[in-house]
Amino acid sequence: MTVQPTSRPRPVAIPAALTVKELGDLLTVTPVEVIKRLMTNGVMASMNQTIDYDTAAIVAVDLGFDPTEEAVAEVAAAAPIVEEEEAPDDPATLKPRPPVVTVLGHVDHGKTSLLDSIRHAKVAAGEAGGITQHIGAYQVELGGKVITFIDTPGHAAFTAMRARGAQVTDIAILVVAADDGVMPQTIEAINHVRAAGVPIIVAINKIDLPGANPDRVKQQLTEHNVVVEDYGGDVITVPVSATKKLGIDDLLENVNLVAEVAELKANPDRPALGVVVEAELDSSRGPVATVLVKNGTLRQGDAIVVGEISGKVKAMFNDRGERIREAGPAAPAVVMGLEQVPEAGDRVRVVADEREARQIVDARRRGREAEEQTAHAHVNLDTLFNEISAGKLKELIIILKADVRGSSEAVKGALERLSTAEVKLKVIHAATGPVSDSDVMLAEASNGIIIAFNTKTDPSARKRADATGVEIRTYSIIYQVIEDIEKALAGMYEPVYNQVIDGHAEVRQVFKSSKLGNIAGSFVLDGTLRRGSNVRVLRGKEEIAKTRCEGLKRFQDDVREVQTGYECGVVLSNFDKFVEGDVIEFFHEERAN
Ligand code: GDP
Repeated sequence: MTVQPTSRPRPVAIPAALTVKELGDLLTVTPVEVIKRLMTNGVMASMNQTIDYDTAAIVAVDLGFDPTEEAVAEVAAAAPIVEEEEAPDDPATLKPRPPVVTVLGHVDHGKTSLLDSIRHAKVAAGEAGGITQHIGAYQVELGGKVITFIDTPGHAAFTAMRARGAQVTDIAILVVAADDGVMPQTIEAINHVRAAGVPIIVAINKIDLPGANPDRVKQQLTEHNVVVEDYGGDVITVPVSATKKLGIDDLLENVNLVAEVAELKANPDRPALGVVVEAELDSSRGPVATVLVKNGTLRQGDAIVVGEISGKVKAMFNDRGERIREAGPAAPAVVMGLEQVPEAGDRVRVVADEREARQIVDARRRGREAEEQTAHAHVNLDTLFNEISAGKLKELIIILKADVRGSSEAVKGALERLSTAEVKLKVIHAATGPVSDSDVMLAEASNGIIIAFNTKTDPSARKRADATGVEIRTYSIIYQVIEDIEKALAGMYEPVYNQVIDGHAEVRQVFKSSKLGNIAGSFVLDGTLRRGSNVRVLRGKEEIAKTRCEGLKRFQDDVREVQTGYECGVVLSNFDKFVEGDVIEFFHEERAN
């Protein structure tokens, strides 16, 4: 389709940079039409090539538009950071808001039961008995005061949100079963909550059981530096029974007390900012997301951006499935009208209109793509010194996993003694067992590194660490940990690599190929040969080449690896002067420190 110039130029806002295809969309012509117009103006560009405003404007004018430059570049630069740091609200506009509470604790200590019994005992707005729906969060009311509960218990969800830059929790309820006491995940939860700087209320659960021993729980908590009131500290403990519904009001009253002290406030009269706590694709309603409003009021009809998704609030529902037209600070609302399904932890922002929403989403996508191409900014030992020197880093956060408690304590003590005037070393979580997903998330959320002492890393945790740039360092000797950290603090840390031999192949015949040069027809003597691996070619005792394996062939097929006892063709980069009897050694490098 070609749009002929009309008598009066039509206004169009064009970003500082866009692809040929995007320009076509803006000008309602096909990309081919844009390419043709560009060519007549001496510019050769393909459909996905990015062109600048000036070039785009020529095409726009050609097609009868009156272009102006849109300030997208600014949005692109600012969008990833602006969200939470929006202009602060004038204190005069702030009003008290409900607290948002997350329930954490060891498995089977009663988190789910507690959330259920709170929900059933105290449905908000006096509608006890109303059917509540699981939407990821719910509100209850006690003495005219509303409390919001996130109903995905556990620190994994809690820290996953934080790792994505979204902290929603104001108060953490730590559930400890009175018959079981403080367990590993109790401690993990404490450390995760502490890293987030969130106040804790302890619910000592299952007090109905004959083996219940609340005093022992209090003592154990105090040993883990959660000093409860009975021991002179300020952490409130409340005895409860989730299944017998004992102590629930008392617990909620204490939540209100802690909330009051925290003076939680928000400005209900501004466009909403929120966080997605749950989302799914509903077969009849399309993408639906439970949004927890953090500030402002979310209204039906609002244009929103959620991460890299734009949309418009077509309809909203509360936790009882009722239609609502607005949701204020700390209220959860199921939102319909997003273009795609967002992820938990994605931030939600109301913008002027759908057009702005799309622009922001576009700019964010580009910003992310650009960021993905540059090195990640997560702290690691190689760059530690520079960050300290630049004054960017005042604390080195460490998550420590070890084989046994004794060694974790020893390493922790040694590390903490390394703190200097410039940088403080803080072990925010020390525990036994392999490095888990939740450790990596904690490191991610706290910008920390993980030290694995005589312990392994779960494969999924390794994957997550690689994807997010979290550094996991494995050691088996204390002084090496200390030495590395000391060196990193002093800026002397040099990574050391060890060579690991993967296998050997003997050249039995040399084939000529017009495309690939000489191919070494070889027999694998030992190990496994992998394409892309480092290699050296040995003739007798002499190394005559060191390069990379470009290709491996089994008959006519290209293969990724070949095992001992098989024949294969080996192609190397920059070397093909093979002689029968040469040995090709395959190796890779592994960091030794
Ligand atoms: P979660 O893993 O922390 O979510 O724990 P659950 O809520 O699933 O509870 C684990 C088990 O403890 C279940 O069998 C519950 O019925 C039981 N339980 C939870 N709270 C209580 C309680 O207050 N008293 C007793 N006796 N059992 C409880």
